[in-house]
Amino acid sequence: MFNAKVSVVKSGHLPGNASFLAGKFVRNPEDIRQIKEVVKKAVEMAVGSPDAIIHEGQTVLIKPNIAFLAPPESFAVVDPRVIEAVVSYFKENSKAKEIWIGDNPSLGMHVGKARPALETAGLTAAAIAGGADRIIYFDEEELVDVEVPGATFFKKAQVFKPFLDADVVINLPKLKVHLAGTVTLGLKNWNGIVPNVHPSGQQQGVHRIDLGQKMADMYRIRKADLTLVDAIIGMEGQGPHAGTPVEMNLIIAGTDTVAVDAVSSSIMGFEPMEIPAVRCAATDGLGEIDLEKIEIVGEPLASVRRFFKRPNGDPIGMYKEITVFAQQTCPGCFVNVRGALDSFVNTGIDMGKMVKEHGEIVVLGGGVPDFDPEFARGKNLFITGDCWKYFPTRDKVEKAAALAKSVTYYPGCAPVYVFSQLNADLQKLSKQEEPALTR
Ligand code: SF4
Repeated sequence: MFNAKVSVVKSGHLPGNASFLAGKFVRNPEDIRQIKEVVKKAVEMAVGSPDAIIHEGQTVLIKPNIAFLAPPESFAVVDPRVIEAVVSYFKENSKAKEIWIGDNPSLGMHVGKARPALETAGLTAAAIAGGADRIIYFDEEELVDVEVPGATFFKKAQVFKPFLDADVVINLPKLKVHLAGTVTLGLKNWNGIVPNVHPSGQQQGVHRIDLGQKMADMYRIRKADLTLVDAIIGMEGQGPHAGTPVEMNLIIAGTDTVAVDAVSSSIMGFEPMEIPAVRCAATDGLGEIDLEKIEIVGEPLASVRRFFKRPNGDPIGMYKEITVFAQQTCPGCFVNVRGALDSFVNTGIDMGKMVKEHGEIVVLGGGVPDFDPEFARGKNLFITGDCWKYFPTRDKVEKAAALAKSVTYYPGCAPVYVFSQLNADLQKLSKQEEPALTR
């Protein structure tokens, strides 16, 4: 007896993948044609036909994962070819009145600006090419206060109005590993439905160690009518932003997002119970996690499974030019410092030259019981989070700040924006500009 159905469909050779994987995205009509065919098969196998989820005259919102201000070649955002194919498929094959596409990014150099993020990712152009009726930059839209009945802790939210207004919502995440969430798939994609302010907004302040429960709670606001995973080119390693691409050529589809995420994570070589959001949502009765109880149609999992490299969230000892002190530090600062350093190093910066010209870098995250303030003398000090102030060693951090060449504070708990801001500030330092929050 199955409780859910998930389809897994593989494309043939996509001619555009070679240049894309080599670092240059070029729209290839043959890719779009093939991906559209795969989307068609995946939808038909999962639900029969678009009419099963979209009725005549309805508005349909496609919610992609645009977590960052990043180009397609970053592979951190949904593939523009998938956007175009999905929009075009539903435009031509459903009785929808309008097809919308919209999102609000979580992270990036800009920290939450939808318009530049969608444009940089090539998704605005792709949505137009696919025939979208409306492109919605969520952070330019009204917010609606909602209660979340049954939630464990995320009991109230401010949600972008178009997400609630649409008659049908199609969830379109990308297949990626994630420093904080282990993977990011359909459940995690709902983070974009709430605003992104920092340091303590709904997206940022609650991006903590209980992120999985938050995502399960958020999923109660509104379930997806269909989840389609862009697994054409996934990301392994230091995801969700600085990992390496993995060619999979798959689309995964189903109406139960928990089941779709369980199947997708299994394809990536994870046990579904390892994924906090999937585990929490299943425990809360929001969907099926047990692969034995999910009818999987299309490709057998064993034939498409690839064991994705797992992300490493530890920022200590990565670079001799950047010393990180993370002692009594929870993942709220820990993984976000690592994420920032991964991004910074990916810029190809000559760290030796930077340090020679501008001085050494010290990052303090959380409480630091074993820290000699003298270590910061004459160096550039970056202090993340609020909790160091509540440790008995507060005076050591204050003394270090007095001895340092420059000090940059990142207030908040959890200061998730460190993920983008520390990277931005290190880049500024390398160009001899003042970091935003320097004393
Ligand atoms: S400020 Fe402290 S408690 Fe808060 S996220 Fe950072 S390390 Fe964790």
